[in-house]
Amino acid sequence: MKLKFVTTGNFWIDNGLVGLHDAIKERYPEAILTLKANGFEANLSIGQLEELKEEAIKALTTETKNEGWYYDKAKGIFERYRKRNWKRFSQFFLKQIGPSSKEEIDKRDSKFRSLSLQAQAAGLKLYGEKKKYVPLAPLRFDLKISFAMEPGNRVCDFCGQKRLKTVEEASRTQFPFLVGKGKLATFYSHHGVSYKICPLCSLATLYGISQALLYNIGGNIGTFFLPYDPDFRELRYFHRIYLDHLKTEVPPEQEQFRNFITKVRTNYLNETFLALIYDIYTYTVKAAREAERKRIFSKSFYGFRGLESGQKITYESLNEYSRLEATFGFFDKFDENIRKISEGGWDFRGIFRDFQIRLQSGGVDTLCREKLAGRILHFDYLEDIVEDFLFSSGERIPFLDIFVETYIKEVEGMDEKIVKLTRGFGYAIGSKASESKTKSPLYDIRNSKNLDEFLRQLNQIQFAFEIQVPETLIREVSDENWERYKSLVSIFAMNTFLG
Ligand SMILES: [Zn+2]
Repeated sequence: MKLKFVTTGNFWIDNGLVGLHDAIKERYPEAILTLKANGFEANLSIGQLEELKEEAIKALTTETKNEGWYYDKAKGIFERYRKRNWKRFSQFFLKQIGPSSKEEIDKRDSKFRSLSLQAQAAGLKLYGEKKKYVPLAPLRFDLKISFAMEPGNRVCDFCGQKRLKTVEEASRTQFPFLVGKGKLATFYSHHGVSYKICPLCSLATLYGISQALLYNIGGNIGTFFLPYDPDFRELRYFHRIYLDHLKTEVPPEQEQFRNFITKVRTNYLNETFLALIYDIYTYTVKAAREAERKRIFSKSFYGFRGLESGQKITYESLNEYSRLEATFGFFDKFDENIRKISEGGWDFRGIFRDFQIRLQSGGVDTLCREKLAGRILHFDYLEDIVEDFLFSSGERIPFLDIFVETYIKEVEGMDEKIVKLTRGFGYAIGSKASESKTKSPLYDIRNSKNLDEFLRQLNQIQFAFEIQVPETLIREVSDENWERYKSLVSIFAMNTFLG
């Protein structure tokens, strides 16, 4: 039958549709009829839809070390097999699907007694807690979706397809993101409202997770990213051209589970996304032509975290990252500026990697980098974060001045004169402090609580280090901007001192 798979504006389902489209294309190449901005049409039988469902569920599970068994009626023997289990984090999207046996022989059956005795004699443990049974097929994961696409009056709340006879209630555990793009505010407050989902959207949700970029470096937190474009063809193109080559299968048994690798080891959402987007930038965007760049800029990303706790998962921090053009623009400018002074192959990644505090346990604390990444991705000022990092880590960051200068000029739009002024003054303070091996004046400046105190500290430094405070600085600094000036002077001074 001819079926319409229509985009929904919901990032989870629409990404799933991309996976579903490509699975259909691979299995039944003749089936795809059209591919348009709002979805695709395909000619599929109910049997083929069932197979596509099976394939999606199989991709979400993996073989385990545990052995299972069943009685093969035709052969009249007990067969052993390796049981399957969810791949990490998958079960939380599809919680109500559990392994079950389609065919079994239980106590009511006359053959049960003899078969169960034979099984036990062969060292096989009977299935079932109270109601024991002998399975006649391997246990399998299943999700009931009725593909009977009979005409009726029901409407799917997602794709808006009408005239269906059956629509099921969408469940939050099967499908965690009930809201459409632009309605994210309701994500956490969604309670008690039911949504109807048609079999085709339901099938697409199963392919959603396999499209996601998933990152976990051990522990119980998974970080997920999915791209978005309202044009279905563009969304698909982005997956195949830009994201597929980042993906790599990491054995699911491993403690760390992820399907992509970043060059910077990260823990949190924003820093992981910034590392990911920089990889996309260096692999593909940097050298891309203008037209191709525009194509990439029209995309946005959704990122969120899943926290495992026992059999539950909590989703948090759903973020939408748009304005990729501005983020890539900053990368362009930074890499250009650093090339002017260094041939050593330094780039943004090097600076970004350095924002971490080494712990005595051997691990690293990257909370500061997470905060920094959040500011960069939302084009917010970052001087206070950088200042905090330098003073608490006590580690110099090479080329930090280029980074800070480029950011506050290109992103914050601060006057270049002020940048030069604070940098020159900061260098002078840092060098003098380093010569005299005293850093307490740096702390005094950093700890200033208000404009008066800041000016008083600068005044004292004039005498202690015999440096003139630039007149322009005193003229320009005000109640509104003194904190940023203070942070900039502190950053440049401390980074010089630590060098
Ligand atoms: Zn639908």
